[in-house]
Amino acid sequence: MANPLTPDVLVDPVVLTRALVDVESVSRDEKVIADCVEDALRKVGHLSVRRVGNTVMARTKLGRDQRVILAGHLDTVPVDDNLPSTVVDDLIYGCGTSDMKGGVALALHLAVTLPDPRYDVTYLFYESEEIESEHNGLNLVTGAHPKWLQADLAVLLEPTYGTVEAGCQGTVSAQVSLRGRRAHTARAWRGVNAIHAAGEVLRRLEAYHPRTVTIDGCTYREGLNAVRIFGGVAGNVVPDECGVEVNLRFAPDRSEKQAHEHLREVFDGFQLEITDSAPGARPGLDAAPAREFLAAVGIEPAAKLGWTDVARFAALGIPALNYGPGDPALAHAPDEHVEIGKIRDGAATLYRWLAR
Ligand SMILES: [Zn+2]
Repeated sequence: MANPLTPDVLVDPVVLTRALVDVESVSRDEKVIADCVEDALRKVGHLSVRRVGNTVMARTKLGRDQRVILAGHLDTVPVDDNLPSTVVDDLIYGCGTSDMKGGVALALHLAVTLPDPRYDVTYLFYESEEIESEHNGLNLVTGAHPKWLQADLAVLLEPTYGTVEAGCQGTVSAQVSLRGRRAHTARAWRGVNAIHAAGEVLRRLEAYHPRTVTIDGCTYREGLNAVRIFGGVAGNVVPDECGVEVNLRFAPDRSEKQAHEHLREVFDGFQLEITDSAPGARPGLDAAPAREFLAAVGIEPAAKLGWTDVARFAALGIPALNYGPGDPALAHAPDEHVEIGKIRDGAATLYRWLAR
């Protein structure tokens, strides 16, 4: 297959978005698109290019004091009868338009057309963001080539509809277990009902007042919820077991460990087991490249409430934010699309920020 990412395609981020969308790249099937991206980058004299698996890295080596990362995942969720792309008025429709080939197009367009940026830039095009973390290209690079990720700021071009979403909340899942003693319901006094014991757990959840925390102008709203409950043996048995699964979303001023301690305090006196957790990420907007980025965008940042790959950078001590042309509400939807105007705005903003 001839590479569709030709020089005349690369110079126009809108045309480039369509070309990227039309190379199907469902998670674990990113070889072809990674080949195309790698080939396009290798033809550019001012970049040094490396590849591991289907993750491609390109960087300038201009000796600048600071380095920034522009990153985007190459994979999409499964196609839903929405390829190849189509254009209706100002909208490009197709799988991956919003999440996130519109964003990938911006990074690739800048990589090729901006030989002399004001910071050194590392461009990362990575595989398998949409599936389990063990396949995630950023995760693999963190282990195998940690130097690729050294930077003063990372911008992930995930869909934010042209706003800046900084940091992200952490998450903890846990199970509160209640024990009782089985008995025939006809002789219930011989048993201890574990489901009744869950009443106090639910009352604590109902009475819980989640915090609202503002960091660097970004407001994070915490939440603690029961998400599943199970228990019961049979219609004539006093149950001896009950479990309440809870999920805490916590603001990034708490560490993961502090979030665990907080849950143990809330459910003091009960048996609690942490089943899964991931740290949040502070917005980190006080670093100089981040302040200049915000000035280029010209609007106030907002908090990211879900968990994103931003947290992987934060874990390495690199401030990171999301900024992309796609609409997050359209990600993974069959009518997924991206506005052509948002792509053009995004390219102009990144140029304002990175050009000298
Ligand atoms: Zn995405």
